[in-house]
Amino acid sequence: MTAKIIDGKAIAAQIREGIKDQIDIRIKERKTQPGLATVLIGQNAASESYVRMKHLACKEVGIQSFGHQFPETCTQEEIEKLIRALNADPKVHGILVQLPLPAKFDEEQILNLISHEKDVDGIHPENIGRLAQKGREPRFVACTPAGIMVLIHSVLEDITGLNAVVLGRSNIVGMPVALLLIAENATVTVCHSKTRDLAETCAQADILVAAVGKREIVKKEWVKSGAVVIDVGTNRVDDSSSKRGYRLIGDVAFDEVRLIAGAISPSPGGVGPMTIAMLMKNTLHAAAMLD
Ligand code: NAP
Repeated sequence: MTAKIIDGKAIAAQIREGIKDQIDIRIKERKTQPGLATVLIGQNAASESYVRMKHLACKEVGIQSFGHQFPETCTQEEIEKLIRALNADPKVHGILVQLPLPAKFDEEQILNLISHEKDVDGIHPENIGRLAQKGREPRFVACTPAGIMVLIHSVLEDITGLNAVVLGRSNIVGMPVALLLIAENATVTVCHSKTRDLAETCAQADILVAAVGKREIVKKEWVKSGAVVIDVGTNRVDDSSSKRGYRLIGDVAFDEVRLIAGAISPSPGGVGPMTIAMLMKNTLHAAAMLD
């Protein structure tokens, strides 16, 4: 068997196209143009590149973007003051604080300050809390987990009763994706660095989501024949033949796993573009809620 490749780039492009159409209509109807503010602290090449891509995507779909960049020497108070100002700014419908923050900042306090109505990254405790409660809907679903669910649904209409294994339990990926899978009636196992028998557990999965950040940790023996595999990991490896001096690879040993899986979303080119598309979608949703 050779797995179907889930083309996250193409799916994300289609979603962005739809968002652009909806924003064009809003502008014609003289409704407010959606606005996204980004907050970037310190010098982290990966974070800078993610923020740059988010601004480019905003431009492409017609969202106004406002970039706020601070050196690592700035203070917690300055950032909190900015978040309060952005909460009150009617041109800003979504606020995204690029994570991780440099260690000296109190990340929880900064994220908690973001107004629920502008939490387009979906990681405010209120949004995550509602996701964890049966029958409750969060205002925004965290972007990467939401994108992962779209990729899964591109090959599986209904996941009721399927065994899903999530590798990783982070606040931004593993835990919320596990909650989304449970909400759709999958039977979910969450694995982490203390899990015993990782390979055996993963091999039970009809749906396997790998969000660990360890290059090619998922081998073909970990994968059940026909499983849907979503690779979230983005790991840098040195590559002198690349202009950047490195290339990105995922948490899944793609070349061998594709021979076992039923469908696989590779990394890069899978979840990454979906995360940005979901951010655009959430920002449009935030603006539309004020109509
Ligand atoms: P994270 O906060 O570092 O969490 C990693 C998780 O993996 C933790 O729960 C950790 O367990 C677990 N883990 C670490 N080593 C393990 C091992 N050997 N066996 C089993 N579990 C292990 O990372 P994250 O923010 O969730 O990101 C995960 C990966 O996804 C990274 O490569 C990141 O770059 C990528 N990512 C991609 C996107 C995108 O849009 N494409 C977005 C976000 C993240 P403990 O909890 O026990 O420490």
